[in-house]
Amino acid sequence: MKKPVIDYDECIGCGSCVEVCPEVFRLNEDEARAYVKAEDKCATCDCEEAATICPTEAISLSD
Ligand code: SF4
Repeated sequence: MKKPVIDYDECIGCGSCVEVCPEVFRLNEDEARAYVKAEDKCATCDCEEAATICPTEAISLSD
């Protein structure tokens, strides 16, 4: 299964990925950016969708 990776230099902390995949992504404490809290939980959501809607294309999916 593919695993999501966030480019922290590109992330603006909009939270869209958290809305789509709350089991996978989470915003850090100051909500400045997201991080991957469970890279193996993509089966619970649609990580491809999260990567698609990310406004800065910060999310990539790796094998
Ligand atoms: S959707 Fe993209 S820019 Fe928004 S919080 Fe997630 S990784 Fe960051």
